[in-house]
Amino acid sequence: MSTSKKRNKSNILCVLCVILIFIVLLLFILYFCVFNDNDEKRLSKIGYSNDEIHTLMEKLSDSQINELYNYDYLPFLESLIGLENYKQENMLSYIEYVNKIDSNSDLEIVIYLVNSNINYPYSAKLVDLVRSKYFILSRLDRYMKYDSDDINTIITNVNSNLDYKFYSNINPTDTSKETLLIVNKYYYLDKNYSYGNLVTIDKKYDNKTGSKLSSVAYEAFKKLVDDASKKGYYIRNNSAYRSYDYQNSLYSNYKILNGLAWADKWSARPGHSEHQTGLALDVGVKGKLSLDSFEGSNEFIWMRDNAHLYGFILRYPKGKEYITGYGYEPWHYRYVGVDVATYIYENNITFEEYYAYFVENKM
Ligand SMILES: [Zn+2]
Repeated sequence: MSTSKKRNKSNILCVLCVILIFIVLLLFILYFCVFNDNDEKRLSKIGYSNDEIHTLMEKLSDSQINELYNYDYLPFLESLIGLENYKQENMLSYIEYVNKIDSNSDLEIVIYLVNSNINYPYSAKLVDLVRSKYFILSRLDRYMKYDSDDINTIITNVNSNLDYKFYSNINPTDTSKETLLIVNKYYYLDKNYSYGNLVTIDKKYDNKTGSKLSSVAYEAFKKLVDDASKKGYYIRNNSAYRSYDYQNSLYSNYKILNGLAWADKWSARPGHSEHQTGLALDVGVKGKLSLDSFEGSNEFIWMRDNAHLYGFILRYPKGKEYITGYGYEPWHYRYVGVDVATYIYENNITFEEYYAYFVENKM
């Protein structure tokens, strides 16, 4: 073979090689352009704007972005991932939840529902409940079961345990709550319990009953009586601590004399009396043991408006009988401390409502 022929053959081979390299290169370019879109391009194809893509790339993991390709464009996604309680690990659950309802629903509520593992379907009632001031998550089943269209009624009544009949679902009260322990028709005290030290009330503060009061409540009551007397109001104790046995005989006598309904409206069953705590007392005007006349006195007006400044609440207010389970008692005050008493006074709620939300739920 001649040298020129050899050269020609190697030239053809070279050209073939170049063509081959060119084809391979072309295939590569084609592959990257058509078959191997990057995330930006793929998200953009679904319909996300450049701003949205920027946020998604920043806040989502690669696997989460991959998950997005299973969905059509999600108009709420950018807002959702920017919300305060958004949890990355719940992203798919949020999307599934919103996809079941309409995408204009309240995303903060969706986040709350998903984060709290609430399984009730989204509804106006559920949203209103969750948004309510005194909503307690652990009571959600009871709210949903409660037969009322009014959200405030549902919250108030379930928080006060009114979905159970009085004395139908009773439990020992949690005495670790100390001055905030509750005693009512659902919570009772052990036979021998009273809070702190019981101190005999000095006759200067007492209508000759010889009653005792827990020292913390007694100190507050003395200050209250002293301050009131400086303004010309003469408030005295008419009945403070009562033992279980004493309450038992009191309640039994009322029941014999006036029947069960009357006894339950105006007196507590033994163990269920706030007087057994040592933190409650009935007050009257100096020298007057009558409870009924107290409401008409100037002392009552002063107590009603000032008792909270000393840590006492009017425990059985007018209009709240259905919650407390007792008739209106303008004479009965309970020590809970100044801050709590002030909150209850300013917000016009009962101790039942306060206790459910702030003490049992939060402490
Ligand atoms: Zn009382």
